[in-house]
Amino acid sequence: MLEYLKQDIFKIVSEAADNQGKECYVIGGFVRDIFLKRESKDIDIVTVGSGIELAEEVAKQLGKKAQLTVFKNFGTAQVKHKDLEVEFVGARRESYQRNSRKPIVEDGTLEDDQNRRDFTINALAICLNKNRFGELVDPFNGLNDLQNFVLRTPLNPDITFSDDPLRMMRGIRFSAQLSFFLETNTFDAITRNRERINIISRERIADELNKIMMSRKPSVGFILLEKTGLLELIFPELLALKGAETKDGIGHKDNFYHTLAVLDEICLHTDNLWLRWAALLHDIGKPRTKRFDKRLGWTFHNHNYVGEKMIPEIFKRMKLPTNDKMKFVQKMVSLHMRPIVLSEDEVTDSAVRRLLFDAGNDIENLMTLCEADITSKNPEKVKRYRNNFQLVRKKLKEIEEKDRVRNFQPPVDGKEIMETFDLPACSIVGDIKIKIKDAILDGIIPNEHDAAREYMFKIAPEFGLTIPDSK
Ligand code: ATP
Repeated sequence: MLEYLKQDIFKIVSEAADNQGKECYVIGGFVRDIFLKRESKDIDIVTVGSGIELAEEVAKQLGKKAQLTVFKNFGTAQVKHKDLEVEFVGARRESYQRNSRKPIVEDGTLEDDQNRRDFTINALAICLNKNRFGELVDPFNGLNDLQNFVLRTPLNPDITFSDDPLRMMRGIRFSAQLSFFLETNTFDAITRNRERINIISRERIADELNKIMMSRKPSVGFILLEKTGLLELIFPELLALKGAETKDGIGHKDNFYHTLAVLDEICLHTDNLWLRWAALLHDIGKPRTKRFDKRLGWTFHNHNYVGEKMIPEIFKRMKLPTNDKMKFVQKMVSLHMRPIVLSEDEVTDSAVRRLLFDAGNDIENLMTLCEADITSKNPEKVKRYRNNFQLVRKKLKEIEEKDRVRNFQPPVDGKEIMETFDLPACSIVGDIKIKIKDAILDGIIPNEHDAAREYMFKIAPEFGLTIPDSK
């Protein structure tokens, strides 16, 4: 353990605290991560007394190399040094009111400070004062919980979660991130206190969801959210995917577990948060489009388009960014059914070109999503589907090399159309552009300027335009 405390920063903090005659500890995630052998650049220092004074002294010792920021209102300070962020705070005692997660804060002892922590594994502290340097202070047996991969609250979990319900999300996030188990009492208390989540801001919930999404196996988090009843409160559209109905002896798969399997699978192939969101949302339109037909069985017609349309309302409510990231997720969801069709034997070049045109530079991401979407338990089927996608990739590559339609720019632009026919900006210009684009995508003409110009003259009479003499 002392190995991790060899960094200069701890020596400097230690000396500064001794000079000021203050008890001082490194606490929380950094200590937990020492035992989990996870690298951490965020260091939390708690001192009995003023955290700001200690930070000022440390910044002075570090000189120009350090950057000090003081948050007077919160009684905290941050020192940035190289790639480290060190937070300083005075030990505090907290008491909560029913309708807010903002506590009344008073100065306290180390023990008070450890009591207000969310989980025993996050309440571990190591003393930094010279005469006790490296001594672990672990009043709740957090080390034992760490060794058993258990998440447990230091105090009565009903109080811990009711005081600050964000801790419920944090607990589930740590389960997914660290592969830990929520101890039974802790789990039951989340279930009992789930409604308290309503006092937490959507932004904070979205932060935790994104951390779950970025973990190695996000399904762990979503299954816990479902089991505790939190999912229903924060993400009802996802819960609506759950369940498998049977009619006339015909069943459909449970789209909740299918979605989670797709999400876990895509995480093995990408760290792109938004592609992961696309995996989570790819079938989100299924419950709204589900029908039973005596002849066809269960159908989910147009679920990709309905899903695409649902995404802005979901992102807005959840305070996820409603910018190009969202547009990317929408695009992936809307296109996710397209590549599979291309694996059929009789596929035309035109269909391949159209997909390249619609997906543009996101074609690789789309293929990653489609491949993750294969979740059959039958290895023969999986093999066949994967081979099909290999074939699609081959066709995409061939057509792209031949026709370069991925980042299609019309070879004849609106300006040229207007000048040639002496037209003002009007809908005819747009219509001609679309016709030229379609002709290229359908392989009627090559993706070249002269051919496109020739074609423009050919279709001009359809729009009542006469071909100028100077052509
Ligand atoms: P990560 O860096 O992965 O988010 P962390 O545990 O370091 O994990 P921080 O948010 O940096 O998380 O918090 C640092 C420490 O502060 C935690 O380890 C925990 O002791 C305490 N803490 C943070 N948020 C809460 C909370 N809502 N309730 C109680 N204690 C908290």
